[in-house]
Amino acid sequence: MKVKLWGVRGSIPCPGPETVKYGGNTACIEIRFDNDRLIIIDAGSGIRNLGNYMMQHDLPKGPMKTEIFMTHTHWDHIMGFPFFTPIYIPGTKLEIYGPVTYEDEGLDTIMGGQLRYRYFPITQAELSADIRYHQLKECVMDLGDGIKLTTKYLNHPILCLGYRFEHKGKIFCTAYDTEPFRNLFPTDPDAPGYDESAALEGEEIAGEENQKIRNFFKGADLLIHDSQYTQKEYLPAKLGWGHSSFEHTINTAHKAGVKKLLLFHHDIMRTDSQLHALESFFSRKTKGKTPMEIAMAKEGMEIVL
Ligand SMILES: [Zn+2]
Ligand SMILES: [Zn+2]
Repeated sequence: MKVKLWGVRGSIPCPGPETVKYGGNTACIEIRFDNDRLIIIDAGSGIRNLGNYMMQHDLPKGPMKTEIFMTHTHWDHIMGFPFFTPIYIPGTKLEIYGPVTYEDEGLDTIMGGQLRYRYFPITQAELSADIRYHQLKECVMDLGDGIKLTTKYLNHPILCLGYRFEHKGKIFCTAYDTEPFRNLFPTDPDAPGYDESAALEGEEIAGEENQKIRNFFKGADLLIHDSQYTQKEYLPAKLGWGHSSFEHTINTAHKAGVKKLLLFHHDIMRTDSQLHALESFFSRKTKGKTPMEIAMAKEGMEIVL
């Protein structure tokens, strides 16, 4: 497997002189297998450049064929779709998989809804590619070519899936957007509505859910994980926003025996120099305490597994 990062930010693209090194595009990851099979995770603004690359690299070999696995349908993860050139090319075959939170609208309406005259000059019906949508839940899928995919619900305000790809003995996992599961019942005996058994049960369930997530990453050669905040930023101001801290991410990945961790979904306010400083800080802090390799996700980065 070769993994390439085309977008590493959350929220909205943030180009400019302060985001040149780590990149300003929103989430998009390419996975290439040795027979040139292509799988894409998310259609953030980074997918525009990937589409342009496919036009040069894949189209000359014949009609383009790819699967896009959506982690969820927040705008930063779907916004690049109308600018993904292969959707305008006759012969392109596109299978789009993803979770749907509100069943009254399918993935085709959510993704394709961006292609309406009120937002964009071209409608979904005018696209030349053959596009099929598939709703995805927690499951195990045989993708053929010896590729096994396992999906896992994460903790985010809408349904969001983590992915675990296994191929030829190598494991690649993603977990974004997500934050740690927590006890939702009051734990302070003086708090209104405190109930001791509910508090204990809540604690136990949160612990179990976090353990399930660690099991999901177990032994991963590469994990790309949400780490939008520092722990200081996360608590209490960003609690419940659906994103993790660097500290939580590193701790979780270490406990799961991950070999290489990429910190991902960078906050749009974070400049290149701040990201570099954080990367150095956490590398120093964890040196000698974990064999795991830790780095900031960077646009254009390629990892061969
Ligand atoms: Zn996001
Ligand atoms: Zn999100």
